[in-house]
Amino acid sequence: MSTLHTGCLDEHVPSVLFFRALFDLGMALERHSVDLALVLGSRSPFIFLSEETPNWLDRHIKRLSQTDYAGHLKVIRAELRGRKVSENNKALRKLLQRVAGAIRKRSAADLAGELHKLSERAHTLVGEALEHFGDDRVRARWSQCSRVPLVFVHEAGGRETRCSFETTDKGDAIHVHVGPYRESETPTARGGALRVYFNMPFYFFHEYLSHSFSRWQERLFVEGYLVWAATEMLVRVDGDLVRDQYVMERLKVAELQPGGVGCTAAWYGQNFKERFLKFLLAWAADASGSGQPQDLAIQRKDLDLLASLANLTSAMKRGSEKNALYNGIELALSDSDPRRARKQLRRLARQSIGVPQFTPRLL
Ligand SMILES: [Zn+2]
Repeated sequence: MSTLHTGCLDEHVPSVLFFRALFDLGMALERHSVDLALVLGSRSPFIFLSEETPNWLDRHIKRLSQTDYAGHLKVIRAELRGRKVSENNKALRKLLQRVAGAIRKRSAADLAGELHKLSERAHTLVGEALEHFGDDRVRARWSQCSRVPLVFVHEAGGRETRCSFETTDKGDAIHVHVGPYRESETPTARGGALRVYFNMPFYFFHEYLSHSFSRWQERLFVEGYLVWAATEMLVRVDGDLVRDQYVMERLKVAELQPGGVGCTAAWYGQNFKERFLKFLLAWAADASGSGQPQDLAIQRKDLDLLASLANLTSAMKRGSEKNALYNGIELALSDSDPRRARKQLRRLARQSIGVPQFTPRLL
């Protein structure tokens, strides 16, 4: 990776300029995040940083020249300096002025370099997390997953800014898709747009864990269970309070519930904690996950059984039956061989047929 490709970051289109300006703002805010947390007191600084700030930019952006990157930064600085701060909070006003002064103009190449650094750090953190939570097979699998280059692509229309892991003949890469100009959680405001900045390390962490490390690519597994695993692990190996808090808040409510299985990942997480995490990692590294349709069908079935067992255990009244099932799951998750563990879970599911609250879709 001797030369960094800037890709679309060089283009003078509104969505790319907005993306660049948000990153400049994000970096300036992050540099002052400790002070902001102190000054804002009980108000959650990461919500303040990422939900409210982009709205200022949004209100002014219509007046900006569509090719004027410097103009974007000027608006942000002016907004920070002139912002009416509630309760005459002098300390906050001063701090925002300092943040305004810390916003730096950055070339497309500089930004590409910063993003590369973030992705490389994410690769290192995944390695540390797997070293800590995984067994030898997990570590052996991870040793095959090297760092990959970033490719910046701009998509007019479509989804918000996001990442994806792309596998091609020429090698793997993480694509950073810079989303459309007008895309946010609500159509009229930009609130939430800056979350891309704060979430970016998590996105890279997810790409490496779910799409490089995991041999299984069943969607519920990689976008549900392994997203849960990523939130758990990143917090333990990273220790970046602002980002971690933000990721936990946002992902737990917004993105961790694909098809309802997310709830179940949370249930397993609450009840079996690290054991479940280790089970998922062993599963992800399991060599039988070749990506063949029959493997995916098996995995889909196992995921469904996992979800059904979690729901059943939650629904059962306290008593010896509930305890037996709970202990059975615990025992299965403790098995060092994921295939044997899944067999045990299947057996528990078969034994549960006929219990009224048990409603597996597939058996
Ligand atoms: Zn993904």
